[in-house]
Amino acid sequence: MDDPTVKNVRVRFAPSPTGPFSFGNARTALFNWLFTRRQNGEFLLRFEDTDRERSRKEYEDDFIESLRWLGLNWDGEIYRQSQRKEIYRRYLGRLLEAGFAYYCSCKPEDLELERQSQLTQGLAPRYGGRCRNLKNEKGVIRFKMPDAEVFINDLVRGKVSFKTGLIGDIIIAKSLEEPLYNFAVVVDDFESGISHVIRGEEHLPNTPKQIMIQQALEIPLVQYAHLPLILGADKKKLSKRYLGKSFLDYKKEGYLSSAILNFLVLLGWHPARDREIVKPEEMLMEFSLDRVQKGGAIFNPDKLDWLNACYIRITDSRKLFELVRPFVPSTWFEQPAILEKAIEIERERMKKLSDFTKLAGFLFSLPEYSAELLIWKETEPGVILENLERLVKVLTKNNGNAVMALADKRGRGEVLWPLRVALSGQEASPGPLEIIEILGKQETIQRIKLAIEKLKNSQK
Ligand code: GLU
Repeated sequence: MDDPTVKNVRVRFAPSPTGPFSFGNARTALFNWLFTRRQNGEFLLRFEDTDRERSRKEYEDDFIESLRWLGLNWDGEIYRQSQRKEIYRRYLGRLLEAGFAYYCSCKPEDLELERQSQLTQGLAPRYGGRCRNLKNEKGVIRFKMPDAEVFINDLVRGKVSFKTGLIGDIIIAKSLEEPLYNFAVVVDDFESGISHVIRGEEHLPNTPKQIMIQQALEIPLVQYAHLPLILGADKKKLSKRYLGKSFLDYKKEGYLSSAILNFLVLLGWHPARDREIVKPEEMLMEFSLDRVQKGGAIFNPDKLDWLNACYIRITDSRKLFELVRPFVPSTWFEQPAILEKAIEIERERMKKLSDFTKLAGFLFSLPEYSAELLIWKETEPGVILENLERLVKVLTKNNGNAVMALADKRGRGEVLWPLRVALSGQEASPGPLEIIEILGKQETIQRIKLAIEKLKNSQK
């Protein structure tokens, strides 16, 4: 349940820029954003770039561009942990001084030996505490993990309890200059006044560590909401194929951001009036954390394609015109009237925006095709030829309606098939009357004449 006692809702999306923006990131960002926007709260963006070796500027750019594309706008400046060293140093100093943290100078090889021996005894590996009571003045900084039982009231998972005695003294900083995730996150969330931490379930085991650090620093508890894991169709961990793929590739392939948002919101949430199409403006009205499920959310790429086709069908024409712009040759814009009509007749057949160029290309220039394609089933070529010639006559004098009269007289397949092929050069296309409407009389007649020539030449 959303907690009515929390007045100032402030959430953060806190990715580590160590890889491209993923579906998992997008889902976390969206749920945070919807939750806070529904309550007039704030949405902060913080790059957790304490891992200097793996964090990259290009990934940050990828995150920023992806969030913008999805329309998930953040409030205020972007935070970067790498720029907040002074703040962490202060808090680390406090923990060291108060005896909640200590320097540990154990060698990695000794720690590894300790780990192996614990494993062979069937114990969960954890630091044995050799340096806990030594007065070291350098080394990594460890937090003295108390042996306690903590509870949280997770807004998704309900009451969850943890025994911290099993965790051991974790490293919270490599040095005063180099804080690590579990520590930095506590300091940042407190300093930024975060009220709710909404993140993936993979962070649940970190929660007791963070709560213990909060308690040592006398920092008030935040509300947690852990979102269900995103699983593949086999209910196992989602494959790298989807997790590792750059989100912006979906944009390049012609997915609409509205379809992606719809897909994302259903990864763990369902509206009260259950349905598959939940438009962005509807999710903003209806989203609440108490409808987020506990069990894993299944990632179904076919559903994404289906949703994309739905959104292409329901998107306003003007908007669709703008959306296809990056996908079509610029010369097509010299004929905006044709382009607009082409979008209308092809939108039903498009699964992605990028399909448009292939589907509508024939309207802008007739593709190569073979004379045999003009032949309807077993019809004699001579009959087809005559039908095409009659079509030229009929169209010169009359409009498209006369075509149907001719087709009724001389056979629908025998007239309409060669006509459609003559106009599109393709085996499948919209109906010939729709094409005539777009091409206009002159171009139509020219294309039929070309078909006549083609057929004649093939008969020689
Ligand atoms: N930086 C963490 C990540 O990218 C998120 C931490 C958090 O939300 O607490 O998974």
